[in-house]
Amino acid sequence: MTPPRSDGQSGSALLRRLQILRILYGVVVVGLMVVGGDFVYPRLDRRIGRIDTDIIESIVLSLLLYVVTLPAFRALGRSIRELDELQRRFRSEAIHDPLSGVFNRRHFDERLIEESERARRYGTPLSLIAIDVDLFKAINDELGHAAGDAAIQEIGRRLQHRRRRGDVLARMGGDEFTVLLPNVALDGALSLAEEIRSIFADEPMPLPAAAGQVFRIITVSCGVSELRGDDKLDFELVRRADALMYEAKERRNFVVSR
Ligand code: GH3
Ligand code: MG
Repeated sequence: MTPPRSDGQSGSALLRRLQILRILYGVVVVGLMVVGGDFVYPRLDRRIGRIDTDIIESIVLSLLLYVVTLPAFRALGRSIRELDELQRRFRSEAIHDPLSGVFNRRHFDERLIEESERARRYGTPLSLIAIDVDLFKAINDELGHAAGDAAIQEIGRRLQHRRRRGDVLARMGGDEFTVLLPNVALDGALSLAEEIRSIFADEPMPLPAAAGQVFRIITVSCGVSELRGDDKLDFELVRRADALMYEAKERRNFVVSR
């Protein structure tokens, strides 16, 4: 991960700087009181009166405080913005797969539990599509690992493009992806799986190769299932969709739902 742009000040260096400024300000204020009390204020009192001198003293001290602390506050603001940005990136990286850009398995597992609970509580449907790329090893073997990686990225892009609001799309590992579909029953999930199958089967994928770019049709096989009332564990839905995906593998570029 590339760290965010920084002006080179660590948090502790900034705190040290603030501490020095605080002491400096104290010294200046005491100095002003001593010098002002003995020489400046009596003269000002005589010229413009007691109340006006107090007002001028307050304005001078406030301006001084503002000027002395301004650079430190600017640096503090930059530091806080950098921390916010880091936090946002750490959060995002903790739940995404770096290669495909879709959610990672850890996030999927959490969302599966949440969505299963919600579906059971409100009696709404929940479906899942298990997707595995067909003969993916051959891409690596024939075109090299970089082409395999490029294919995973393009698969992630195409699936992401097809994803609807609320769907949870994740890479489960290797060439396996999953789409969790809250509020979607089996027939809706089946038509989405058919659409997914065809976005791969109908459009060749550009891949890097030694001789430049090549175009390959990369197909996927899908297993589709819906959460059932008698599913004791949320992961039974995943296991069932996986088993159906392996049935689909017997034909490849195919969808099986049950
Ligand atoms: P099948 O149709 O039966 O699924 O055949 P397959 O070749 O796709 O077999 P399988 O799914 O078992 O193999 C997946 C292969 O994907 C294994 C591994 O070489 C490759 N692979 C997994 N993750 C990555 C990755 O991140 N990058 C690359 N380049 N290859 C990967
Ligand atoms: Mg595969």
